[in-house]
Amino acid sequence: MGGFAQPYLEGLNPAQREAVEALNGPVLMLAGAGTGKTKALTARIAHLLATRSAQPNEILAVTFTNKAAREMKTRVGALTGHIEGMPWLGTFHAICVKLLRRHAELVGLKTNFTILDTDDQLRLLKQQVAAAEIDDKRWPARMLSGIIDGWKNKAWVPSQVPVAESSAFDGKGIELYAAYQQRLKDLNACDFGDLLLHMVTIFQTHDGVLKEYQERFKYILVDEYQDTNVAQYMWLRLLAQGHKNICCVGDDDQSIYGWRGAEVGNILRFEKDFPGATVVRLEQNYRSTGHILGAAAGVIAANKGRLGKTLFTDGDDGEQVRLIGHWDGETEARWIGEEIEAMQRGTRGIDPMALNDMAILVRASHQMRAFEDRFLTIGLPYRVIGGPRFYERMEIRDAMAYFRLAVSQDDDLAFERIVNTPKRGLGDKAVQTIQTTARTNGVNLVEGARLCVEGGLIKGKGGAALRELVQGLDRWFAQLRAEADTHVEVAEMILDESGYTTFWQNDKTPEAPGRLENLKELVKALENFENLQGFLEHVSLIMDNAQDEQDDKVTIMTLHAAKGLEFPAVFLPGWEDGLFPSQRSMDESGLKGLEEERRLAYVGITRAEQHCCISFAANRLVYGQWQSQMASRFIDELPEDHVEVLTASGLYGGGMSAAANPASVGMGSHLHDKAASADVYNSPGWRRLQSRSQQRPVAQPQESRNMVIDMTASSSHTVGDRVFHQKFGYGEVMEIEGDKLVIEFDKAGEKKVVAKFVVGSAQ
Ligand code: ATP
Ligand code: MG
Repeated sequence: MGGFAQPYLEGLNPAQREAVEALNGPVLMLAGAGTGKTKALTARIAHLLATRSAQPNEILAVTFTNKAAREMKTRVGALTGHIEGMPWLGTFHAICVKLLRRHAELVGLKTNFTILDTDDQLRLLKQQVAAAEIDDKRWPARMLSGIIDGWKNKAWVPSQVPVAESSAFDGKGIELYAAYQQRLKDLNACDFGDLLLHMVTIFQTHDGVLKEYQERFKYILVDEYQDTNVAQYMWLRLLAQGHKNICCVGDDDQSIYGWRGAEVGNILRFEKDFPGATVVRLEQNYRSTGHILGAAAGVIAANKGRLGKTLFTDGDDGEQVRLIGHWDGETEARWIGEEIEAMQRGTRGIDPMALNDMAILVRASHQMRAFEDRFLTIGLPYRVIGGPRFYERMEIRDAMAYFRLAVSQDDDLAFERIVNTPKRGLGDKAVQTIQTTARTNGVNLVEGARLCVEGGLIKGKGGAALRELVQGLDRWFAQLRAEADTHVEVAEMILDESGYTTFWQNDKTPEAPGRLENLKELVKALENFENLQGFLEHVSLIMDNAQDEQDDKVTIMTLHAAKGLEFPAVFLPGWEDGLFPSQRSMDESGLKGLEEERRLAYVGITRAEQHCCISFAANRLVYGQWQSQMASRFIDELPEDHVEVLTASGLYGGGMSAAANPASVGMGSHLHDKAASADVYNSPGWRRLQSRSQQRPVAQPQESRNMVIDMTASSSHTVGDRVFHQKFGYGEVMEIEGDKLVIEFDKAGEKKVVAKFVVGSAQ
């Protein structure tokens, strides 16, 4: 080994080095947040390569998110310099897609199978439920989707589901599952859960294939092992039975996917599964300040049934965790926006920070909207990772359906989506004719449509339009394979020739320009991929869309998606009972759900390096209803020494509170003792707010929301004002037309934009 440069070993502590250098045999690294587990795992890959213990393609490394995989790739690249080829590095799903494409025929699929998203999956299940004549009010398809996902996470094919599990759906659960799987096969498609399930099935039934990969993968590495489900666990165990060089790292305190079938027991069982395993424990935290660690430790200590770990840091205590209460979700978003701007400018008594170094981690994705709206209004750049997002928008899904059909004409779901989008005069009846023709002839819908065209089964304008569509689909299918044009060019062609772009160009709704922008973004995103199939695969797999990562933006994401990541400053809003911990976990009997929520709180706090701010609101609009909220029980568990309670007084000055005051509710009595005694509620600002809410006539929630919007939209722009717009930057108001402004932008030229997305600029 001595002959190789080993820079990746420098800066590791002795325990980490042990985990890196114990190359042969099973290794378990069990340690708390921020102790360098992922760092050690990455160094281990570098070590395997540098010592030539394995070829890159003999290493299999599983990460939990695509973002983590990307980061690890970069880190391995940096550590090892130039090495030919890259290890198999990705999420369980990404790796399984790759394998499944090679062996698709073993489970009755073709290599170019499609991966359905949850929307398609649901549509398909609805059809199954309807076909079985089951009352979908009593047994909604969404529930079936949850049940089937659960079974797949346990690696059960229909014949393996215990009968006792199948009382739902009038006792037809297993039958529906089997029918659904058959339908997927007919469509040459699989859902997310199938990626693993099919691979486990293949490994279990084709010894030759399993042996091949057991031989191939000399070294297996798994990050975030505490969150593997049974199917993933079985897949790993099967593969590792070859060389038994498996290194798993995890933290039982960060197990947060129990609701999705993850079994923290897997990590506890490791030593039994792999006798003689080297177990490494790490205790030094390199990420967070003392106060942040102290706060996190205080919260997690309330969980029972932990392995129990100590964490220490050599670093400073730093700033205490900040805690602040707000009137409602809007004021919370407003305050955080101001706080972020102050941190960016360096006017909060700390050095200026980049927006990239700040993150807002929410419990539920519906919390994101308030931040998005607010940041759009003040022109604060942000990115949203996870949750409903770019690729789930209507125009993107439509465009992708076209792309999917260009890749595979078997994709009936995609065809159903676009057959009359844009409108071609093909109503339900025409679609039914196509479906019937396809069914009778045992062909896919594109073929069915072709038969309809040739047989003259659909008359008039619709018939002509259908002919054009089928010809288009054939042309795009051929063009994609001819390779005369790049896949990006073909994609643009598809959007133009299908009439889809024109459709939005002619649309007069205010959203249309944004949708066209999105379509442009989509085509731009294609450039990063070798071909269309690779791109579609990527989209179905992503949990995070990290576009333009070089730009300086605040990150907004869910706590679940933030696992394994770190940020110098973290905001944790919405710490209220019913939101965090979630209502469901509180309603459950037993502590299981609540303990998982608490681990999520621990994950949240431990993402922060230097600054952590927890907040809650006394009122929150949840699904259109105002609710008065109680501060989270987790707030009571924060050790006082590590927390600074901020007074909210500054918040309610000026005219802001009048508009933000949604309803009169007696908050103080709802709040937990600890939080109620906190200064927030004794502050002059809070009392002022309360007395005001008693004096004023109670504003109806909807009304007050309009007031908030009015205020931020500010119709007070006048011609000649300098303004700022999130997308187009700085410009000057030329004309005012109702709620729209015509603006001459410095860079983007003249545009008509909605006034509420424009803010006055001092510049
Ligand atoms: P999590 O449980 O949150 O996934 P982790 O245990 O995987 O955390 P890492 O992300 O690997 O922790 O490391 C946390 C931070 O500490 C990183 O910024 C990493 O670079 C740093 N770090 C890890 N080990 C060391 C070390 N020996 N010396 C200095 N810094 C370290
Ligand atoms: Mg990690």
